[in-house]
Amino acid sequence: MTVNLLDYDLEAMTAFCEGLGEKRFRAVQLFRWIHQRGARRFDDMTDLAKSLRSKLADVAVVQPLQVLSEHRSTDGTVKWLFDVGQGNAVETVFIPETDRGTLCVSSQAGCAVGCRFCSTGHQGFSRNLSTGEIIAQLWFAEHSLRASGQLLPGQRAIDNVVMMGMGEPLQNYSALLPALRTMLDDHAYGLSRRRVTVSTSGVVPMIERLQQDCPVALAVSLHAPDDHLRDSLVPLNKKYPIRELLAACRNYLTAAPRDFITLEYCMLDGVNDSVEQAQALVQLVQTSPHNRALQGLPCKVNLIPFNPFPASGLHRSPPDQVKRFAQVLQDAGIVTTVRKTRGDDIDAACGQLAGEVQDRTQARERLALRRIDVPVVSATAAAHQRGPSP
Ligand code: SF4
Repeated sequence: MTVNLLDYDLEAMTAFCEGLGEKRFRAVQLFRWIHQRGARRFDDMTDLAKSLRSKLADVAVVQPLQVLSEHRSTDGTVKWLFDVGQGNAVETVFIPETDRGTLCVSSQAGCAVGCRFCSTGHQGFSRNLSTGEIIAQLWFAEHSLRASGQLLPGQRAIDNVVMMGMGEPLQNYSALLPALRTMLDDHAYGLSRRRVTVSTSGVVPMIERLQQDCPVALAVSLHAPDDHLRDSLVPLNKKYPIRELLAACRNYLTAAPRDFITLEYCMLDGVNDSVEQAQALVQLVQTSPHNRALQGLPCKVNLIPFNPFPASGLHRSPPDQVKRFAQVLQDAGIVTTVRKTRGDDIDAACGQLAGEVQDRTQARERLALRRIDVPVVSATAAAHQRGPSP
């Protein structure tokens, strides 16, 4: 049986090489060929002995994900849909900005958390991605963007990774951890801890694990200032209520590479966007050096425009309401950003493209069971036929 070397962080690669009777520096060489130079074929790894190359070809592969579709926006945003088998697909988005290139990476096919405003959550959970499938998204994006010829020699395309794609990364911790370590490794992508962000809906025990194992930047999907509302928007809140979540965040800050936690807040018209709710959010996170009883949280708040999808029954907050909400936070001294929508001409709510693949596959399977011939429509063709999102 062959192994996929994208599944290995440097420690695992070293163990693998030692199993072949090779020294650690061979693992470093392999790691650099794969992640820094984007090599897939062992024959291209010219500074490895021929005997080692042929040994590797017998027992290992560098197995990327198959691209189902690629959409390029006029603003430079690129969205890829990757096949992860059995009718499942995951999305990865590259967002270029003047000072950095950000990649939004998926950790699961579907998601079990089931947030009310999330298209991925509505699809339900299919499976965890492997480490190789998580890192393959970065591997592919980095090397295909470099190959596009738009970068200067030696310049890297991606210097910021956010685990904010499909899935709850902290519910796939054993695969996530080696992927994070590979992102940070100087022999691979060499990203700064401050430039790798794990976004969670609030899996409290795993926030504590991440703090011990690999403290990168942390973002928390809050979306509500009180437990009653958050219970209905983020069902995980019933298990880990806001008080416990904020305590875990405060504790995380003792090891975090930044001195604040990012709070994500999806603005939902008439649900969580009133001035009173903004004031309640201020109360929740406000800290005071003079009053230790005031247990707030040093944070930045990121207000996110909702991407509507029919099954949600929810609507995007009007811009004026977002402004009023943001003003309350800013007046209280909380750094607040309103996320720009990017790639509007190619976009659908996160998870919608993948949902289409799943729906189509399930429809084919249902029809196949009835022994009816179905024309196979490629995901690429179907996705390109969809018009711009609202
Ligand atoms: S918002 Fe995140 S955690 Fe919630 S359902 Fe969507 S993918 Fe899962």
